Amino acid sequence: MIVQLSQVRCCDGRVDSTQVRDLFLVDGLLADTVPRGSKVDSEYRLPGHVVLPGGIDIHTHIGGGKVNLARLLLPSRSVDSAIHQAPSKPWLAPLSCPVPNTWETGRRYIQMGYTTCFEPAMLPAGARHAHAEMRDTPWLDTGGYVLLGNERMLLQWIAQGAPQHLITDYVAWMIRSHAACAVKVVNAGGIDAFKFNQRHLDIDETHPIFEVSPRRILQVLSTAVSELGLAHPLHVHCSNLGKAGNIDSTLATIDALEGRRMHIAHAQYHCYGNDGPHGFSSAAHLLADRVNASNQMTIDVGQVLFGQTITLSADTMHQFENRKRANPRKTVFQDIECQAGCGALPFRYRQSQYVHSLQWAIGLELFLRINDPRKVFLTTDHPNGGPFTGYPHLIRLLMDYDFRMSIFEQLHPDVQKTSTLPQLKRQYTLDEIATATRSGPAAALGLSNRGTLRPGSLADVAVYRIDSDPESMFSNPAMVFRRGKLVYREGRFLEDSDKTTIVAEMRDRERAEDWSTSKEHQQLWRDRYGYSPSRTAIRRDELLSEGRLVEENQVHAS
Ligand SMILES: [Zn+2]
Repeated sequence: MIVQLSQVRCCDGRVDSTQVRDLFLVDGLLADTVPRGSKVDSEYRLPGHVVLPGGIDIHTHIGGGKVNLARLLLPSRSVDSAIHQAPSKPWLAPLSCPVPNTWETGRRYIQMGYTTCFEPAMLPAGARHAHAEMRDTPWLDTGGYVLLGNERMLLQWIAQGAPQHLITDYVAWMIRSHAACAVKVVNAGGIDAFKFNQRHLDIDETHPIFEVSPRRILQVLSTAVSELGLAHPLHVHCSNLGKAGNIDSTLATIDALEGRRMHIAHAQYHCYGNDGPHGFSSAAHLLADRVNASNQMTIDVGQVLFGQTITLSADTMHQFENRKRANPRKTVFQDIECQAGCGALPFRYRQSQYVHSLQWAIGLELFLRINDPRKVFLTTDHPNGGPFTGYPHLIRLLMDYDFRMSIFEQLHPDVQKTSTLPQLKRQYTLDEIATATRSGPAAALGLSNRGTLRPGSLADVAVYRIDSDPESMFSNPAMVFRRGKLVYREGRFLEDSDKTTIVAEMRDRERAEDWSTSKEHQQLWRDRYGYSPSRTAIRRDELLSEGRLVEENQVHAS
């Protein structure tokens, strides 16, 4: 099957996006020319359009127990009724629930031109369910990061001074048996400490039961990730999320990694000072300076967008602290198999509220102060800062200074007085948007076949009508192709295509087997959790469904 996209601007952040040329989709891959002796099956003439690789969301909560708690707490009106409200512009219809079901998730992402999404907090005990949901999500390639760093057996081993090779073997087994493509750590040790009534755990504080500190946990896990050669570095949710003055512990966390590669998740929630009349201020410049100075760090922003959403986090310590701010007033907290926790808390971000206004400005500051878009990725930490359906609006905020200022002028007056946002006149170019939403996340995840328009890459592309309003442009692509097949056109959803579940390739994959075949380890697991470790392991066939295969990303080259 050969598709020709003619006279189209090509933009992937690497090539000159002003260039107009022909692009070919040949048997599911991109090509510059038609193979000799072949003929084109379909041609689309596209002057006035730009083609980008399919979008990649590096951090979006789309599968697992917490998203179902969200659906229970904020039950949705039917999707059809939401679309019915704006039948001529279905992309403007509000999401009646900030966390839609699997089908609607796939539909809304493909409708923006996104084709690959990663669930960033897959609890070991919840991985089977998270994968079941992602497998059920149409039009998207998916992957998950296994959540470690609060799991009792690991804490106990670190406290006992277990050798690194044992922990690395264990991490390898955790990745392999839960079909993960990376490792996430949330408030290292803090979720477990909360269960002993502790309300904070700073970088060098000791856990109330186990003789471990967050610093030690982060070091041990990042060493394991590096020894295994995982493409994506340790994906870190720092301590003290959302607290005034937390920039100190965020910078201390960066220092604790001692120059190893790291990714800071939803960084907007981790760069607050405690100055000003409300004791809450922006410290985005301090984090941006660190990111600008390092070639080992990437972040995703976790931008706040105004309106109703729900916050979902394994960080029960933080979520418990925030419980009185729930809007509407309902919450769920869970302990999960002594492995982590979960807090679900509806939230409404308001322009009239000082902290919410400032959070909005801080997220944008990070985008604008970090010079290289290969280091800063576009997320709202869906649904925490807002539903992912707000991405086209966020893109306009980045590309259009006047539009940004028109919203800024509606913020809480004290934010307008103190924020430096008006001085940041930078406007993202289309190439920079392509980098922050495509090639940047692809590189950070070791996905060499995505995020680019290079010949040989997957023919997952979105064609947008060039429009002076980026929100309108990115809300409604003219066409989206996956594996060279047209799956979306002008508001119509067409047939689904082949999809993959992306899992980690590891340097010494047998290390995973080494850990699980030890009788001693099997017994330790049984003693701790009450069942065999083989029961938790996900079989490959559980990841498959019609049209969904398993794909391995690359080992990090070092
Ligand atoms: Zn998150």
